[in-house]
This record gives sequence, structure tokens and C-alpha cells, in this order.
Amino acid sequence: MNINPKICPQNHICPLIKICPVDAIQQDNTGLPIIDEEKCIKCGKCAKQCPKHAVEKI
Ligand code: SF4
Repeated sequence: MNINPKICPQNHICPLIKICPVDAIQQDNTGLPIIDEEKCIKCGKCAKQCPKHAVEKI
């Protein structure tokens, strides 16, 4: 899973951080959420719940 920086406005606390069941999403100091591919179990919850549809399957 990847968060597209061209779609994510990067100007708010990402709501997906709390949604991820394995704590794979962290927000960097620019506000861009980053998905740790090693932790991610590809459940798809973040992609379904991102209000901007910025999460892409990779
Ligand atoms: S697909 Fe699931 S496990 Fe992976 S980052 Fe999104 S919510 Fe977390």
C-alpha cells in the first residue's frame, strides 16, 4: 500500500493512523503518512477509509 503525496493534502492528522490494525502508518514531519510495508498485512482498511482516496495498492 502507498499513500500518493499528490492526492493527500498532508495538512491534518491522518485518520488512518488509528485505523490500521498493525500500526503500520506513521506520519512524517511534512505531514505525509508513510506505510511500513514490512508491518502492513494488506488488509485494505486504510484504502477504504481514506477520505481523499489517496491510498493505492502497490
Ligand atoms: S492495508 Fe491494513 S495493515 Fe496495511 S497499512 Fe492499510 S490498514 Fe494498515
